[in-house]
Amino acid sequence: MRRQPLEPELEQLELHDLRRRRHTVEGFPEPGSHSVVLVEGERLVDFSSNDYLGLAGHPAPAAAMAECASRCGSGSGASHLISGHGAEHAALEEELAAFTGRERALLFSTGYMANLGVMSALAERSDVVLLDRLSHASLIDGGLLSGAKLRRYPHCDAGAARRMLTASHQPTAVLATDGVFSMDGDIAPLADLAQAAREFRAWLIVDDAHGIGVMGPNGRGVLESAGLTADDAPVLVGTLGKALGSFGAFVAGSAELIEFLVQKARSYIYTTALPQPVAAATREALRIAQRESWRRERALELTRRFRAAAGQAGVALADSATPIQPVPLGSAAAVLRAQQALREAGFWVVAIRAPTVPAGWERLRVTLTAAHREDQVDALVEALSRVCKECRTP
Ligand code: PMP
Repeated sequence: MRRQPLEPELEQLELHDLRRRRHTVEGFPEPGSHSVVLVEGERLVDFSSNDYLGLAGHPAPAAAMAECASRCGSGSGASHLISGHGAEHAALEEELAAFTGRERALLFSTGYMANLGVMSALAERSDVVLLDRLSHASLIDGGLLSGAKLRRYPHCDAGAARRMLTASHQPTAVLATDGVFSMDGDIAPLADLAQAAREFRAWLIVDDAHGIGVMGPNGRGVLESAGLTADDAPVLVGTLGKALGSFGAFVAGSAELIEFLVQKARSYIYTTALPQPVAAATREALRIAQRESWRRERALELTRRFRAAAGQAGVALADSATPIQPVPLGSAAAVLRAQQALREAGFWVVAIRAPTVPAGWERLRVTLTAAHREDQVDALVEALSRVCKECRTP
């Protein structure tokens, strides 16, 4: 296709309420409090971040970052396999392996890149990759990049996944799922998926970007809650920019798997290593997350409070027991109206539209964190009960 003007397509997005806009965050205006953010001059209570443990604004990781930068500089200068691999990366990898109970962990620059790397390394053209229909875009893109045939089973339907494994004439190399689904907040049927993957000798990849640090008796994620081990789910992907309030991601697994990824995962090999100060901040955040278990208990307690209050106020929620609480409103126009009305009421809650979620399943995505206060949660529910009635598409 020849080069074409781009404006008509942008106009189409605008026309269908699908044009996305960035809003500039200016920081935390209240000293010591990270639940209020300054957005384009307005103070808003932030119910949209993935900072579930309230660590992104914590002074200790920031201090670790500054201290490390004074020793190691602000940039790593090269990829891990050239000269960018530093002592902070190595230490963080060991700590993540210990935290997740696996032989080794490998740092990636982002979760998106971790999923691209692991999917394209473990599957090849002649294979099948099987994914939950609502898997994160990075798992889908990793599957596409591998060149394998991509198949998707209905959301959280392990029986359907098993039937598709049985019916497939080609080998299924990879079965991949989110642990906690990023836009729905529900949890994959991991025990059944693990059994099916084992039977059909597929790699089970669990992307627990939203479970690590939050779910499980020790915050080790949804595999820990389900009582599953590295044998059941051999490839665990975790991100560091969500509950750990930092940046980056990791894959944890056997020493053999990690060595294979070092050799084969192109999104690991051909990119600059994370700055070491980021790894230093993450190490500090991981220590705090493990020491201060009250943070995840509080995020979950506020989640229960939010759900109970919403139930009483007649605000319909999706079925989720994690800090991701979707409020379905049924159309792009409705969620945009609701986002604006909430902003006018002092809350920052973001409208989620297609293609992030299927058309017709548009929602507000509320997230609860350890940084919120009870009165902020109650006030949000009050605002939602009014706004949802005003904005829902009839
Ligand atoms: N996996 C899931 C389930 C996610 O929600 C996200 C982030 N939205 C990612 C992977 C990507 O992680 P990162 O932001 O570190 O690229």
